[in-house]
Amino acid sequence: MRKVSIFGATGSVGMSTLDLIRREPDAYEVVALTAHSDVEGLARLARECGAAMAVIGREELYEPLRQALAGSPVRTMAGEEALVEAAQAGADWSMAAIVGCAGLRPTMAALRAGGTVALANKESLVSAGLLMMDAARASGATLLPVDSEHNAIFQCLAGSGLDEVARITLTASGGPFRTFTRDRMRAITPAQAVAHPNWSMGAKISVDSATMMNKGLELIEAAHLFPIGTDRIEILVHPQSVIHSMVEFRDRSTLAQLGSPDMRIPIAHALAWPRRIATPCQPLDLARIGRLDFEAPDEDRFPALRLARQAVRADGAVPAILNAANEVAVAAFLEGAIGFLDIAAIVEDVVNRYSVAVPRGIDDVLAADAEARAVARQVMERLTV
Ligand code: NAD
Ligand code: MG
Repeated sequence: MRKVSIFGATGSVGMSTLDLIRREPDAYEVVALTAHSDVEGLARLARECGAAMAVIGREELYEPLRQALAGSPVRTMAGEEALVEAAQAGADWSMAAIVGCAGLRPTMAALRAGGTVALANKESLVSAGLLMMDAARASGATLLPVDSEHNAIFQCLAGSGLDEVARITLTASGGPFRTFTRDRMRAITPAQAVAHPNWSMGAKISVDSATMMNKGLELIEAAHLFPIGTDRIEILVHPQSVIHSMVEFRDRSTLAQLGSPDMRIPIAHALAWPRRIATPCQPLDLARIGRLDFEAPDEDRFPALRLARQAVRADGAVPAILNAANEVAVAAFLEGAIGFLDIAAIVEDVVNRYSVAVPRGIDDVLAADAEARAVARQVMERLTV
């Protein structure tokens, strides 16, 4: 029996993880499930899989959660500290699938506790990559990448040393607006932006895919997970999302990982690693797909790519500032407060406007994150008056 916890259980990655776990109920014991505000959803999942504890992120929802789980043996908790406590509750395997920098403290706590951490929550690694990698080294935790590209790279490496790697190619679908002119992008609505052509995902990452900030965040994520120097990490647009990424070795042999665009494949890899388990996912039918296309990314139409590359070169707190500004701008776009092109413009403005010292600990990162959010709101106010 493997003891597992899922942070962000009610989300897209969280539900996909639970889907795999429920297919083999005897193999897993669920320690903790968490959600931000969906009390009913969390309570249902916790009952269904017999979780030992259910944690709701919003403190004021403690009472509704307690009532929803009354009469069950599930222990209920609420608030940010409770998320951290849940990360130290004895799971051998944790899925970090909270969206945004909100996942940083629980993910750090899980890494410090020393088990295996399957990481979907890329924003935490973008904001605090060095600190997270250090924490994993110090505790002996195993960090397994779940983001499909990074999971693909991890699979291609298959134990090879990074000194044997010449180049990493992160593939990108290009999102729903891959062929749009800047002028056409001006009128993009939230509903259009969340409808990704290949993947079904949460709203925030769908918008990030549409602006290609997702690929920018993934570049920073890759720079921490596979430190070969960012100049040797390339982005290649591949609209079919069949090749999930590639590694070229120094002998000029290139390995790629392929599969249907279904997050349950990389999640299953992280769940069973170093073994393999069966999944209900579609087998790859290349004859039906017919062809695979590739094109260079366009940083003029998708400035988020350029901003992320600048941020990873600048390092220090800049990636955290980039991420925080992006989180604020994406939320505002989803609420209809700003336009699609404003997202990258706001991020650029915030990143250029201010700098803070290199973070020495998680508190410094969270302070830079909070400050960048405040600056982003100011920039947005000027934009919308
Ligand atoms: P989602 O919006 O579907 O789910 C997010 C989860 O986080 C929910 O359970 C929600 O309750 C919880 N949450 C949100 N805000 C929170 C807060 N402030 N405190 C505590 N919990 C909070 O998101 P998703 O698409 O599942 O993505 C989750 C993470 O995985 C993101 O970092 C995303 O970039 C990454 N990821 C997702 C996919 C995908 O296919 N969905 C692929 C690769 C990487
Ligand atoms: Mg990805």
